[in-house]
Amino acid sequence: MQRVLLLLPTTTYRTQAFLDAARTLGVEVVCASERPNVFAEQAPDNLLTLDFDHPESVAEAVRRFGQAHPIDAVVGVDDLTTVVAAAVAQRLGLPANSVTAAAATRDKHVMRQRLSEAGVPEPGFRPISLDDDLAVAAGDIGYPCVLKPLRLSASRGVIRADTPAEFGAACRRIAEILKQAGDPSRTLLAEEFIPGREVALEGLLVGGALHTLALFDKPDPLDGPFFEETIYVTPSRLPAAEQARISTDTARAATALGLEEGPIHAELRINARGPFVIEVAARSIGGLCSRTLRFGTGMTLEELILRHALGRKIESYDRERRPAGVMMIPIPRAGRLQAVAGIERAEAVAGVEEVAITAHRGQELVLLPEGWQYLGFIFARADTPEEVERALREAHARLHVDIT
Ligand code: ADP
Ligand code: CA
Repeated sequence: MQRVLLLLPTTTYRTQAFLDAARTLGVEVVCASERPNVFAEQAPDNLLTLDFDHPESVAEAVRRFGQAHPIDAVVGVDDLTTVVAAAVAQRLGLPANSVTAAAATRDKHVMRQRLSEAGVPEPGFRPISLDDDLAVAAGDIGYPCVLKPLRLSASRGVIRADTPAEFGAACRRIAEILKQAGDPSRTLLAEEFIPGREVALEGLLVGGALHTLALFDKPDPLDGPFFEETIYVTPSRLPAAEQARISTDTARAATALGLEEGPIHAELRINARGPFVIEVAARSIGGLCSRTLRFGTGMTLEELILRHALGRKIESYDRERRPAGVMMIPIPRAGRLQAVAGIERAEAVAGVEEVAITAHRGQELVLLPEGWQYLGFIFARADTPEEVERALREAHARLHVDIT
């Protein structure tokens, strides 16, 4: 029986989907986490606790473990484990992204530099040191701009500034967020604000070649000052030629970063000047959003990822035709979650498949730009992308979120 090592940060939403996929494929699973994990019961003999902040010592620990329990594939399920997954794979001699490539996706400034060297279209950018005179830096850049931390995710700490005064306020706010996140970095990135529509491309790299698995439109305008993710709908309603350019530019970006194997999740903006790469992450789509995707005759995204990592045959990379979408339910205001009412009524909307509330009762809900959790997810399928979007909005309107 083949054995796969899953690197599962304790904060991930992705565990169950990968465990289900492993069960479907009949592979043995070893779960590794930074702390003993709630899924202990499902794999009691196969649990490792590893410090993901130290990729090389993790790689060595896994190599030793692997002497008695040979490992055929390693999958890091989230941003936090992409570098360590690469280090482990390299140590075990498994085909995977290089550590350098994985690391480039985890530092937004390095990523911009790699893309710029390769001539991939992206926003103009400039690193900003929090220890320099911010008033001078504010006078030196163009507006509107976007300020962002180098290593956080889920839009945490990403802020648009339209004036030098907003620039200063945003930098100070990000400095505070970095402190809360325990991130010692003193550098931010300032980028040119790219107007336009945003899309997310879900892809799988196989031997350096990109298979576009799905292209999602994000129909809600993302103009800032904060950038909360809400609706994703696939297939995209963009003209075929624009979709093709998006795939081409994403493939160029992956190559520029040195990525070769496994899932990528890319975000791009597109306007009259063409597509611009906002980000390429070496992981699959976050949260529970992968539930929107099915391939071939019903394969999940996680099954596809595991099959690739295990070197198994993949019958089809084609997404099931039917339009599908998800809404990441916005957090309406800060406070403690008491209850979410109206779930049954929301699920009764035609096309809606499921409303999954992932925040728990009593959970402290923090708004962007400081926060990063999701309240939950609404899933829909329908005959057209327009109907999917309508169903998601209608279901959302039927929810009542009680926050004190
Ligand atoms: P994160 O890793 O936290 O997701 P991103 O760099 O992807 O950070 O930024 C989050 C969101 O902020 C993007 O999806 C996009 O909507 C918006 N954004 C980021 N950079 C820019 C930019 N240069 N121009 C316009 N919007 C941007
Ligand atoms: Ca992003």
